[in-house]
Amino acid sequence: MSDSCIFCKIVSNEAKATIVYRDEQVTAFRDLHPVAPTHILIVPNRHIDSVGALDAEDEQLIGHIFTVARKLAEEEGISNGGYRLITNTGSQAGQSVFHLHVHLIGGQRMKYPMG
Ligand code: AMP
Ligand code: ZN
Repeated sequence: MSDSCIFCKIVSNEAKATIVYRDEQVTAFRDLHPVAPTHILIVPNRHIDSVGALDAEDEQLIGHIFTVARKLAEEEGISNGGYRLITNTGSQAGQSVFHLHVHLIGGQRMKYPMG
């Protein structure tokens, strides 16, 4: 838990968010500024700065995040149309919150790359 981290505060219910999924390992909530009809952030409950701070012990956790993303995409009804999973790593990639998260984005046609 990092005292100044907004996503840690969402995980611990100190900050409000529209939570769509939670288990012992991860929490998923709607992005405050959605860029598509579905825009959900999936975060580990334990604070990890970014992909740059991962180690081998986190491999199961990262796999779990993708499985949760797949389930949420099905619940959101975007599986057939397709969706995008994005993890920005570092400031030049656009990471603005330094608590690892995967964006689940879908519900509209997307171009590649985005920015
Ligand atoms: P990134 O730029 O990849 O680090 O993504 C951070 C995302 O977090 C952005 O899409 C923000 O809109 C979103 N965000 C920031 N603060 C909150 C919050 N309190 N609740 C939900 N989403 C947030
Ligand atoms: Zn955090």
